[in-house]
Amino acid sequence: MRSDTLATHLGRDPDENYGMVNPPVYHASTVLFPTVEKLEETNRRRLESGHTHYGRMGTPTSFALEEAITALEGGHGAVTASSGLAAISLALTACLESGDHALIPDTAYGPTRTFCDQVLSKYGVEIDYYDPLVGAGIEALLKTNTRAIYLESPGSLTFEIQDVPAIAEVAHKHGITTLIDNTWATPLFFNPLNHGVDIAIHAATKYIVGHADAMLGIVVANQQTYPAIRQNAVRFGHCAGPDDIYLALRGLRTLPTRLRHHQDQGIKLAKWLNQRPEVARVLHPALEDDPGHTLWRRDFSGASGLFGVLLNDYSYAAVTAMLDGLKLFSMGYSWGGFESLILPVDTNTTRSATEWGAKTPLLRIHVGLESLLDLQSDLEAGFERLTDDRYR
Ligand SMILES: *Cc1c(COP(=O)(O)O)cnc(C)c1O
Repeated sequence: MRSDTLATHLGRDPDENYGMVNPPVYHASTVLFPTVEKLEETNRRRLESGHTHYGRMGTPTSFALEEAITALEGGHGAVTASSGLAAISLALTACLESGDHALIPDTAYGPTRTFCDQVLSKYGVEIDYYDPLVGAGIEALLKTNTRAIYLESPGSLTFEIQDVPAIAEVAHKHGITTLIDNTWATPLFFNPLNHGVDIAIHAATKYIVGHADAMLGIVVANQQTYPAIRQNAVRFGHCAGPDDIYLALRGLRTLPTRLRHHQDQGIKLAKWLNQRPEVARVLHPALEDDPGHTLWRRDFSGASGLFGVLLNDYSYAAVTAMLDGLKLFSMGYSWGGFESLILPVDTNTTRSATEWGAKTPLLRIHVGLESLLDLQSDLEAGFERLTDDRYR
């Protein structure tokens, strides 16, 4: 079945639930066993997915979301965590140990970098950052102790598309585990496990929850890596809240519809911005002149609503006036909700292996579900403030 159908039906079973369309939310710590035999059996099965003997090991609520995202990603199993970042740290620590070397793309989400630099390195993992555009050339960066290659495509803030299959192939040849942050595309627009990646990670906080009202992460793994992921989650005590998981299950039902609209509005707004005299470049892989377009077209089946806008050379005061006066585009972290967001971003402090050549202001836009005409008017008024002679 296709993903629209799967997103609608996976992870719920009305027949098991008085005919109710949606599954109940299980709030649980203690799980009771009627006999010693049952108690012992449950201990033997403790790491199996869909099995629980204590609230921390999961509930039917978490299993439902895990089952749904696993199927959408084409994985073997999944584990939920309390945030996207918790999912990332759980996945990386499952694959790495002291003395290992890991390769991280220079465009990785900032807190992922911080986790690598401040936590993994403290436990003796050697970290190197690599040019996200390296492709098969990543082979030259491998060391004898390289155990993990991390990917994120498109890259945070600057939206470079990676050659995921080429990197995964090199990793396979050398027995190295690959992990990818797939938050931007969601399981609907890119399935990295079908392109040779071992582990896909989602900040479900973004599009899957989709309403800016919950924090949640999910790790989807193939057969080979799933046991280590599950075990690591259990050992670290990862345990997402049932109400937040329910919000992700609810968000999932409308994800295909929302995402197509985010995509549609995003591409239209990106094209409109590309024509504006105030804009130097729009960073959006679905635009034909984007450097990542060919790879995006080859591997992805869609684009979400998050992209970058590189402005021409305007002063800090001008950009501030533009952003402060916007009525519909709010400033705030996160993205993937129904509302439009805008953020000034600084790429020069977040790189070490590559240079972001551009020196002019960069904005990150998340296109929400408002009317595109209203969004354009809001930006148009913003551009008037941007080009106001007072801020030259
Ligand atoms: C937001 C985000 C995360 C982290 O998710 P949280 O739920 O905020 O911890 C990870 N990766 C990317 C690409 C993100 O944008």
